[in-house]
Amino acid sequence: DELVSQIAAGEVVERPASVVRELVDNALDAGATQVTVRLVAGGIRAIVVEDDGCGIPPEELPLALRRHATSKIRTLEELEGVSTMGFRGEALAAIASVSETAIVSRPADAAHAQRLDARSGELAPAARAQGTSIEVRELFFSTPARRKFLKSEATELAHAVEAVRRHALARPDVGFAVWHEGKLVEQWKRGSHEQRFADILGEDFLAQSRAMDVQAGPMRLIGRVGLPEAARARADQQFCYVNGRFVRDKLVQHALRSAYEDVLHGQRQPVYVLFIDIDPTRVDVNVHPTKIEVRFRDSGEVYAAVRRAVTQALAAPGG
Ligand code: ADP
Ligand code: MG
Repeated sequence: DELVSQIAAGEVVERPASVVRELVDNALDAGATQVTVRLVAGGIRAIVVEDDGCGIPPEELPLALRRHATSKIRTLEELEGVSTMGFRGEALAAIASVSETAIVSRPADAAHAQRLDARSGELAPAARAQGTSIEVRELFFSTPARRKFLKSEATELAHAVEAVRRHALARPDVGFAVWHEGKLVEQWKRGSHEQRFADILGEDFLAQSRAMDVQAGPMRLIGRVGLPEAARARADQQFCYVNGRFVRDKLVQHALRSAYEDVLHGQRQPVYVLFIDIDPTRVDVNVHPTKIEVRFRDSGEVYAAVRRAVTQALAAPGG
């Protein structure tokens, strides 16, 4: 079973940033309003994610680490309409199989926190306000071959920060902070969508973009799309979310570029933040273990809607 977990971990956990993404997903699923990420050596030595969410009751702590144990869905019908970030019950088990993991958690009604050490299974009282801290130390310590594939600490740190940024852009109602070796590297305070866009994409993004808002059958598209003159040389300012989850989607990328066809010359890339909210039965998020890819039931309808949202926004007279 240890081997099976480690193989599964290979699909979910590629580098510190993958751990950060899964742990922040869990914090958001727990209803956190503040998420703090602390890293050591780009996350290779330590990743700690603290939240003020609902916490985990002591009797459920061991379950949280078990493979395929999720508290989020119970039936196949629920999988069809999944609204939480997590649902596979795989991440914590996978992470714990390739690191030294501990969970410290305190639900609202508990007198104190409990700390569970994943390796020893030892449970002990601990001090903490309501919420959960997951500590992941020495990633890939037992799989040196995997550890060798990690890049420099600076590169791993940059990927980890990017993982938090993707969450932060979609959730301005949640405050985020990222610390590296005791230094605050990023902080996004709770506020409006506009404020968060400005904080993450730059103060001039609002002036250099137009709002999108389109209702198309089973989906609603909102967000902001950059004006052609604000296009970039690189595609690293393109953020697409499907039902709140950051995804990489060729179809959406293509629809965006095609809406720009006549105005974007050469290799220039549009800047955009696009939230697609779609009837969950019309999209399969269970395509890839990391959930970064989705499959739409009717891709033509999504393609047309994205094109329309962009075209309308760019034609609008400002705002
Ligand atoms: P999934 O998110 O797919 O359910 P995970 O392996 O990521 O699976 O987490 C397993 C379970 O541990 C979750 O279903 C949840 O019950 C619990 N859990 C993990 N992290 C937290 C957290 N930060 N706050 C509350 N519960 C958590
Ligand atoms: Mg999860």
